[in-house]
Amino acid sequence: MLESFLSATVTVSLSDSSASFVIKLSNSSEIGRLSRKSLSSKLRSILLNTPSNCSFISAVASPKTLKFATYINAYMQEKGDDLLTSEAEKLIIAHKPDFVFLYMVETDEKGGHDSGWMTEEYLRRISLAIGNVKRIIEQFGDEYSVIIMADHGGHERLHGTQMPEDMTIPLFFHGPDFAPGENITHASLLDIAPTIAAIMGLDSDPDWEGNSLINR
Ligand SMILES: [Zn+2]
Repeated sequence: MLESFLSATVTVSLSDSSASFVIKLSNSSEIGRLSRKSLSSKLRSILLNTPSNCSFISAVASPKTLKFATYINAYMQEKGDDLLTSEAEKLIIAHKPDFVFLYMVETDEKGGHDSGWMTEEYLRRISLAIGNVKRIIEQFGDEYSVIIMADHGGHERLHGTQMPEDMTIPLFFHGPDFAPGENITHASLLDIAPTIAAIMGLDSDPDWEGNSLINR
């Protein structure tokens, strides 16, 4: 079902894991250098997430670029990802932010770690996350470019090794900046921040190692 909402599909190998990032979602994962340089103070940003360990939030917010942020502890609240998606919808409608980061953690915590990667429960959690992504795209896909990504894979009940199961993730792009049906190869998570910067009309940080996946 998700395919009908997507413009392009890319499989990413995290071969550039030696690079440092500003935002880390877990002790083994990185999503990109959305640093104070790339997200300048003029931008209105939202950080949304449901990790059990939220220590990185303060690091992300420290440049004072976040105008809105909310957090749900997935182990204190059932259907935390669904609720967080609802909060994202409300905030987007109310504030029309330039940039939104919605982090759904239940696939990792309650799917992978609690039940095992690729188990029936893990796949059920993936399906729920896809449902939330569909909600966002159906409501805001005409206004916003949407990048759907994971920060790592997993095997058994863990991740963080060099195994392909841990290092390979899906990446999906939706929006006018991405050619329909294009299948990009050799992309990396390092390319995500430059791609977001290009979409937003910002200069890439000269220290970035990745490249924009769109032509601007
Ligand atoms: Zn994890």
